[in-house]
Amino acid sequence: MIYQFSLIYRSVSYLTILTALVVMYGWLRGIELVQIIVQSWPSMKFNTALCFFLLGGVLLCTYYRNKLFKILLGGVLLFVASISFIENLTDLEVGLDVLLVPGLMSAGTALCFALMGLAHLVIYADSVEWRKMSQYLLHCVTVISFFAMIGFVYGISGEGKLMFISSMAIHTSALFFLSSIASSLIHPSLGFTALLIGKKPGNLLAKRMFPLMGSLILVLGYLVIKYWETGEISPETGLTLFGMSILIIALTFISMIAMELNRTDIKRSEAVRALRDSNANLEKTVAERTALLKDKMELLNATTSAARIGTWEVDLEAGKVTWSEMTREIHEVPIDFEPDLTTGINFFKEGAHRSRIEATVQECIATGKPYDVELMIVTATGEDRWIRAIGTPILRDDKVIRLRGTFQDIDVRKRAEIKISEESIFLQTLIDNIPINIYTKDLLSRKTMINRSELELMGLEDSSTVIGKTDHELFPKESADISRKEDVEVMKTGIPILSRETSMDLGENNKHWFLTSKIPIKNSEGNVTGLLGVSVDITERKENEEKLKNYAILESKSAEMEQFAYVASHDLREPVLTIKNYLNILFEDYGEKLGEGSKRYSNTILNALNRMELLIGGLLDYARLSRQKDLEQVDLNEAVKNVLESLDSLIVNSQATIKVSKLPKIKGYPTEIELLFQNLITNGIKFHHPDRLPVVEIERKKYGNGWIFSVRDNGIGIEPEYIEEVFVMFKRLHSRRLYEGTGIGLSHCRKIVELHNGKIWVESEPGIGSVFYFTIDINE
Ligand code: ADP
Repeated sequence: MIYQFSLIYRSVSYLTILTALVVMYGWLRGIELVQIIVQSWPSMKFNTALCFFLLGGVLLCTYYRNKLFKILLGGVLLFVASISFIENLTDLEVGLDVLLVPGLMSAGTALCFALMGLAHLVIYADSVEWRKMSQYLLHCVTVISFFAMIGFVYGISGEGKLMFISSMAIHTSALFFLSSIASSLIHPSLGFTALLIGKKPGNLLAKRMFPLMGSLILVLGYLVIKYWETGEISPETGLTLFGMSILIIALTFISMIAMELNRTDIKRSEAVRALRDSNANLEKTVAERTALLKDKMELLNATTSAARIGTWEVDLEAGKVTWSEMTREIHEVPIDFEPDLTTGINFFKEGAHRSRIEATVQECIATGKPYDVELMIVTATGEDRWIRAIGTPILRDDKVIRLRGTFQDIDVRKRAEIKISEESIFLQTLIDNIPINIYTKDLLSRKTMINRSELELMGLEDSSTVIGKTDHELFPKESADISRKEDVEVMKTGIPILSRETSMDLGENNKHWFLTSKIPIKNSEGNVTGLLGVSVDITERKENEEKLKNYAILESKSAEMEQFAYVASHDLREPVLTIKNYLNILFEDYGEKLGEGSKRYSNTILNALNRMELLIGGLLDYARLSRQKDLEQVDLNEAVKNVLESLDSLIVNSQATIKVSKLPKIKGYPTEIELLFQNLITNGIKFHHPDRLPVVEIERKKYGNGWIFSVRDNGIGIEPEYIEEVFVMFKRLHSRRLYEGTGIGLSHCRKIVELHNGKIWVESEPGIGSVFYFTIDINE
């Protein structure tokens, strides 16, 4: 029941019970007013009041759904009403009317109670037919009570009334009217109630017209009767007037309905037209959209087939896997191939790829996280193929029930990517490890890339401290200015600078020389976006060049010196020999005439001249040594043998032992080589220890492309501080009285070794002996 009706219903129920109680009280106390209300009108009998009390109970039981009490009270009500009705119609006397307070209720009242009781007993029946019946029974009660009330309004006496309502009290009919209407509100959608309560245009019209028409007819009838009773109009005129009025009212009513219907019809037609229009529009739009969708679908199909994108779906509950045609094609399986989750996963390449997809799918099912992976499969024909698999989970109640996604053949792209990545790694490795400085700059000469060599040049380790900086922020202003000028030139003209010699001052005594190339970097439209710089550090070469230059100067100076020494010693020899000859002649001719003093002076002069001759000879030999000659094949065994033969008397006299290992053949200058060995062997014997006989050993050892030779003696040795000095010309460590010599021998040796691209040095222990080493690089 609708809420506002429930209020009316309960109010009517309580009013019924209250009225019944008041009337019963009136009967018991003999208060006539409450029994009759209007004089000469029938009274409400005590039984009627009792039945109203029961009816009130039934109404409340219906409201509160108390089935048991309803049946009980309704049953009693039905029973009392039926008996009273029968008593009214027949001569049967049961005696109910005289039970408490005498008075038989009218047939109409009994009928109404019976109808009310019956209606309430089936009001909630399951069958709609029963419920409808209940509603119509209530309507009957409403109509009967309404007529009874009209009778009172029109002042129709008891005799003139219909049999059913002949003796119904005014408050009885009012209570029936109210309670039947209130009860009919329980099912507002049924019967006549629905007509008045509904929201449709007909309902609204009925709701408006009924009270109006009803009250108009009532008022009209009342007036006609009144005028008739006063004799102002004859009954015929009254009846005619009443009939005419009813006719006019009916016509008005019909025309209003017709107008309302017409209005509704116009609105309906308009609505139908609008609907048709919008339908047509809708159809047009649908057709357009369908065509568009078809185009899009075709485009999508074309795209997916061109991009080789297939689709797939896994129903986890049914364990079913579905692949699109393209997915099958990518796997190279027949069109009727039916995959399942395991076979699908087994297509992934064993190892990292398969483990990855297994873990990814498991995670997706467990967490509902979508995935997008690039992995390799092995197709049915055994071909390795890169694919991209995208998976999206579909959840129900937070549980993944299906997976759906795409499967794309990305083999060509992926392999190209891998190749590019490998090549770029190779390139990066090369750039980082090549001993050439490589960098790139943007249009403002800011460094955008720098390799390790360039970093090392700056004495830095982390390239991030350099990226974005200009040369002015990194190098001294002078060098940076030059560099920027070159950059601008390259970037403006687009012409590279190739192998330009540049220098850079990196601080104190740290000047670097480079062979620099600057190549413009252009974008796809041919515009210069920066430059690539490649610099080879040629500082060492530059320094070597410098050294070579100095060396050449020295060479020429030393050649000049040697020339001078040669000329000087050659020219000096002549006068020395002349003086010596004259001294000899002087001795031969005047020897006996010379005094002792003169003889001594003359001898001293002669000795000095001899010594001078020796020195000049040595100097001349030294100068001669530098002269260019062709290299010859020299068998060192032969050379040493010749030397030993020439030194034979010295060896015998000094009782020296000379041990010689087997020596190689080399390319060299034979005379000089013999002189070298002769000097070293002679020194080995000459500077022998006074306590032991001299032993000289000659050995050789392989060294790189050439040899290391050693001449070892057991002589007096050399103090460490003189180790370097012994090779300097005319340098002697001992007095001539102790050891004869000119101090030229070892400087000869060094020059000879250097002529053969070798080195000479000595290791010695004073008192134990010395070892002279020399290398010869020119061999066979
Ligand atoms: P000299 O004509 O004096 O031998 P050298 O140039 O051959 O001139 O030798 C220079 C000096 O080196 C010698 O005077 C000697 O003091 C020292 N010296 C050379 N060879 C030996 C050696 N085997 N043992 C010790 N001292 C040596």
